[in-house]
Amino acid sequence: YAIESGVNSYMIHTEDISLDTYKRISLDRDLFKAINEKQFELKFQPIVDPERNMVSGAEALIRWNHPDWGLLSPDEFLKIAENNGLISDIDNWVLEEVCRNIDLWRRQKVPLVPVAVNRSAKSFLQYDTLEKMFAPMRTYNIDPSFIHFELTESSLVENYDRVAEVIEHLKEKGCQISLDDFGTGFSSLFHLKEFPVNTLKIDRTFIGSLLEEPENMAITNAIIQMAKDLNLKVTAEGVEEPHTLRWLQERGCDYIQGYIYSKPVSVENMRKMFAKRILKPVYAGGSQAVEN
Ligand code: C2E
Ligand code: MG
Ligand code: MG
Ligand code: MG
Repeated sequence: YAIESGVNSYMIHTEDISLDTYKRISLDRDLFKAINEKQFELKFQPIVDPERNMVSGAEALIRWNHPDWGLLSPDEFLKIAENNGLISDIDNWVLEEVCRNIDLWRRQKVPLVPVAVNRSAKSFLQYDTLEKMFAPMRTYNIDPSFIHFELTESSLVENYDRVAEVIEHLKEKGCQISLDDFGTGFSSLFHLKEFPVNTLKIDRTFIGSLLEEPENMAITNAIIQMAKDLNLKVTAEGVEEPHTLRWLQERGCDYIQGYIYSKPVSVENMRKMFAKRILKPVYAGGSQAVEN
């Protein structure tokens, strides 16, 4: 049993390598045709203002419908895409698809709210990143204020001047910037002062076990307070339980994203949520919830 790979094809015996390695090699190879063969799809997860239970935004999250391996989550293929250079093509596809959907929703007369798009450091630092970010907004006539870019802290450390330039430009045009997975990266509080981001998204490793672990509580409390003092918005990711929701609300956390409101859903279900605007928290059994 053998697979072919690259210019110099070679044999790989599955007995000699682990399934993990085999899967990684095959995903690496298959990624090159995934865009053209329309194997990617987007899910959307609502971001909710807990004071009014109002949908105030959504985050676009990519999935890969692989013909052999089934539905793959981004954690299974984005690292590979960063290594083989396809990540910018993928991130650009996602933004294009988001703009196309916002235009669609607009024509279906649903009240629009901003959509957040993740952008990996590699794509963000491409020489043509600004052109690539604005082209789809122009094509679909989307006001930049409807696009929020989510960057991780590691995006900020690589090339200071360039990052500052790109962020300035995005903000000038009206896009917003969120710092994703806040608290887990190579962060320096210095960045919060130097880069004018709009929102901090507290990583779900702090939120998931918030009430069981006093350290997570202290850290989350401090991030919320700091965000307030710096005039930034703050979003908690991965909220699953009613007690956690209440605790965050009492401390004035601006936005909630998590299974307690909704798992990531299809374009069509997202449209319904936008149309309704009100979304009630429901404890659906936490991580067992499935996407639809
Ligand atoms: P992220 O940007 O931090 O997105 C939040 C992740 O947390 C999503 O995982 C979401 O499904 C999950 N999540 C939200 N609420 C809950 C909850 O209550 N409980 C649990 N257990 N999980 C929750 P997902 O969709 O698997 O995405 C993982 C990561 O992949 C994202 O983390 C983001 O870093 C990356 N990603 C996703 N789409 C893209 C993309 O288009 N481009 C890039 N560069 N990265 C992407
Ligand atoms: Mg994100
Ligand atoms: Mg995150
Ligand atoms: Mg994450």
